Amino acid sequence: MTEISNTKLAVAKPKVGIYGFTGCAGDQLLIIHTEDEILNLFNSVDIRSFVMASSNPIEEELDVAFVEGSISTEEEREHILKIRKRAKILVAIGNCAVSGGPQAMFTGDNTFEKRMNKVYGNVNFLTAPLEAKPIDAFVEVDYYLPGCPISAPQAFALISRLIHGAIPESYPHPVCHECKLNENRCLLLDKIACFGPLTMGGCGSACPNHGLPCVGCWGPNDDGNFEHHLELLESFGKTREEILRLIRGYGGHKILKYIEKGGK
Ligand code: SF4
Ligand code: SF4
Repeated sequence: MTEISNTKLAVAKPKVGIYGFTGCAGDQLLIIHTEDEILNLFNSVDIRSFVMASSNPIEEELDVAFVEGSISTEEEREHILKIRKRAKILVAIGNCAVSGGPQAMFTGDNTFEKRMNKVYGNVNFLTAPLEAKPIDAFVEVDYYLPGCPISAPQAFALISRLIHGAIPESYPHPVCHECKLNENRCLLLDKIACFGPLTMGGCGSACPNHGLPCVGCWGPNDDGNFEHHLELLESFGKTREEILRLIRGYGGHKILKYIEKGGK
């Protein structure tokens, strides 16, 4: 991760671009829908490109680029390389940009062409499809803002720190931490496969608050003990294949490296 100095954004109004690649666009939508903060944001930064909010993007040098979505076509790959060249700081926002998302759940298992042919046959695409991957498979990412969608408080905390020349901090605890603060009964006690211990917190334990297991949409938690947790879930009667399929759904491409090395 790149260290930024306090002078890197020492401009009155940093030039900002907000981009979306393959994904549901929920993170851009969340930014637009934050009615309390959006006016402050537009007053504090110079939004140069935000396709969801303006039909007149200005593609030029940027202080910060926020990028949502995974890269899944050759056209997107070329575009993210150009954005990286133009931006001093690049922030991946949302699960698909950070971890690859559901579309990357089987990335790296050498079945891409077989899956493409099964679904699309001999269709000729306008742009060459790539196996979907998170942004950092193609360019260096300075900061990560996970979530599905991202959380408004976390997003604006990160933006505020960047604007003021401070280094953003990632949430240090797993979902279980927030779940305990919310005084939920742990679903593991009822042998329900919850991925809270393996998942980065920040969502306020949204799913366990409603009796639903965490499926890992905030992405892998660096300190998770993957092997031990997989063994625990196997003891509930699930096969390892079933568990991995569940957790890959949101951990996507990135979860593989955690599983391969057993966590840390
Ligand atoms: S319910 Fe899930 S998130 Fe909550 S403490 Fe148990 S394992 Fe962790
Ligand atoms: S509890 Fe897990 S699946 Fe639910 S929103 Fe939070 S990180 Fe995502």
